[in-house]
Amino acid sequence: MRGSRALVLLLAFALVASAGTYSVRWGDTLGGVARRFGVPLGVLASANHITDPNRLRAGQVLAIPSAGGPAAAAAPSVVVHRVARGETLGTIARRYRTSVARLAQLNGIHDVNRVQEGAVLQLDGGAQWVCPVQGRVAFVSGYGAARAGGRRHEGVDIAAPRGTPVVANVAGTIEHHVNPRGGNAYYLKGDDGDTYYGAHLLEFVGPEGRVRLGQAIGRVGNSGNAVGGINHLHFERLAEGGAAVDPAPLLLRACPTTSRGA
Ligand SMILES: [Zn+2]
Repeated sequence: MRGSRALVLLLAFALVASAGTYSVRWGDTLGGVARRFGVPLGVLASANHITDPNRLRAGQVLAIPSAGGPAAAAAPSVVVHRVARGETLGTIARRYRTSVARLAQLNGIHDVNRVQEGAVLQLDGGAQWVCPVQGRVAFVSGYGAARAGGRRHEGVDIAAPRGTPVVANVAGTIEHHVNPRGGNAYYLKGDDGDTYYGAHLLEFVGPEGRVRLGQAIGRVGNSGNAVGGINHLHFERLAEGGAAVDPAPLLLRACPTTSRGA
């Protein structure tokens, strides 16, 4: 995303603002720490890039995401707008029937005359971006987690019971992409300008082509290299169809999470 990093970071910070830190004591479990601070286990794990919740060390300092923040509010959807060339907060405010002041407030913008092309702005109301998995989910592995062969995890793993509907998180065009690693996988070319990749489906629902926001496109499973593992949707966000970026800020806003974690 060209020139948008500062604002996106600002947005991400607002969504998973650290409420503090906690130094792990002998005998602590990640689940226990999560319960103590009222933070979903998956969120705590993701915030600290923990891929194995069973390997905590005494003295390890954990960032504790804000329990009372939007991340924990389980909002059903979040509306975002990617700033296009030539747009100003004024033109965006008019387009969405809101005010420059409200946009600035929602996005922590101090200088309303400086909004950068490519920045993703949060808006009020509506339903233009929904959780790709229906119902309560658990985030079990975050973006950037280490993978075999020196690879990095390019998405977020969203665990849910086998067969749970997978839906179009934005309106767009679906293309099925069955492959050895991802199993029953898909690309969703979103109307928001980004492309989304989902993998390990039990099965597809419906044909390729145009989909509405929230339309069922598959069911959660463990196909591909997840065979024998937990049922989850591996979910990637490819900014403007290019490099993968962390989808967590959007997922944390859009997905109701279970406190049971994995
Ligand atoms: Zn994954």
